[in-house]
Amino acid sequence: MTVDLAPIAPYFSDLRAGRPLAVLTGAGVSAESGLPTFRGPGGIWEGERAEELATPGAFARDPVKVWRFYSWRREKLRAARPNEAHLALARLEATLPRMTLITQNVDGLHAAAGSRHPIELHGSLLRDRCSGCGHVSPAPDQPFESLPPRCPLCAGLLRPDVVWFGESLPYDAWQAAEAAAEESAVFLVVGTSSVVAPASSLGIIAARAGAHLFEINPEATPIAPLAEGVFRAKASTVMSALATALGAA
Ligand code: NAD
Ligand code: ZN
Repeated sequence: MTVDLAPIAPYFSDLRAGRPLAVLTGAGVSAESGLPTFRGPGGIWEGERAEELATPGAFARDPVKVWRFYSWRREKLRAARPNEAHLALARLEATLPRMTLITQNVDGLHAAAGSRHPIELHGSLLRDRCSGCGHVSPAPDQPFESLPPRCPLCAGLLRPDVVWFGESLPYDAWQAAEAAAEESAVFLVVGTSSVVAPASSLGIIAARAGAHLFEINPEATPIAPLAEGVFRAKASTVMSALATALGAA
């Protein structure tokens, strides 16, 4: 499938010359790796909406259920590989003088594709954190033998090291993402429904600060009216074409 890059082509020379590109990705970028999005098919797990399980309240009420949900997501993740969207973004980063990749995804697939410093706004499913002492540890390769898992240091309840609905984002990650949005010349919003705050505000921050904003998503989202151009196609198709056009073949 060919993509008409005309709306964004006027900025290619600026980007090649070192004007900053910032890219915000969401679950849609990993959909083609077989990982379900929250708001698409697969966002329902055992009859409950994924968004209702990813909360501190759900964990306090029923940690075993929330852990079963995350164990299921980890199982899917073990089988998942980066797709062309992740790979094209990594090639772009290696080619352009200045690019910042910001992700809401917790699956580690940007790093697996070769992106060096993705800003992970919502933490990582590849780590656990103790809800008692805060100790962070890599997630085990195998599923836990019994749930809920306990901290080896203080026996507190372990939780996945991700940001749940209603929790604040890691301060440093947010600061870095906001700064990248403010200084970007071009800002791409790729594969996100743009409804989860505050990540959804990054495109708005960028546009207000003068960036040329583009959306890449098969479906329209609330950010679309602010965008200078939209690409209604899959992330892999558009990112691949964009990387090639910018010399990151
Ligand atoms: P979302 O589920 O709300 O939205 C996904 C978006 O991706 C939709 O707008 C959909 O139209 C679009 N999409 C689907 N297939 C696509 C494709 N092939 N190419 C481009 N776009 C495509 O996800 P979100 O906006 O990222 O927000 C949900 C929250 O859920 C985030 O906080 C994130 O941390 C979490 N989440 C993460 C993962 C992951 O790490 N892979 C998966 C599910 C949810
Ligand atoms: Zn502990």
